[in-house]
Amino acid sequence: MLRVGIGHDTHRLGPDRPLILGGLPIEHPRGLIGHSDADVVLHALTDALLGAAGLGDIGDAFPDTDAQYKNMDSRFFVEETLKRLQTAGWRIGNVDLTIFAQEPKLGPIKGRMREHLAQMLGLSVDAVNVKAKTGEKVGAIGRAEAIGCQVVVLIEK
Ligand code: MG
Repeated sequence: MLRVGIGHDTHRLGPDRPLILGGLPIEHPRGLIGHSDADVVLHALTDALLGAAGLGDIGDAFPDTDAQYKNMDSRFFVEETLKRLQTAGWRIGNVDLTIFAQEPKLGPIKGRMREHLAQMLGLSVDAVNVKAKTGEKVGAIGRAEAIGCQVVVLIEK
């Protein structure tokens, strides 16, 4: 049996926050604002996995009103979601994602992020694809006010 899931997330950029994308700290003067570490890549990935398995969304699973998730490392959300999928007998086929960011330039770190995500998910590197787009200076992302991410996953059992 095959299922697909889609995930999307956007967070605002602001001062005095570390920038974490795909579980990797990235050198940048501003970071993403949110209740957790605001890692849009891992939030969209979590939503895609939950969606594929018919398990709702990240807000149901890990409410941002819950103090235990304040400044949480978002790898926790992915790891907990993987456990839920594994319990239900699912394994991941592949992951494809696009990050939307006017800045910083993500070209130089796409390869490292791909390897990091593959390791986190227990997949071969060729089963994880990381793409990056700017906002072409249009809209909130194009003005570098926010970073977004879209993720598609295939799961199977
Ligand atoms: Mg989020």
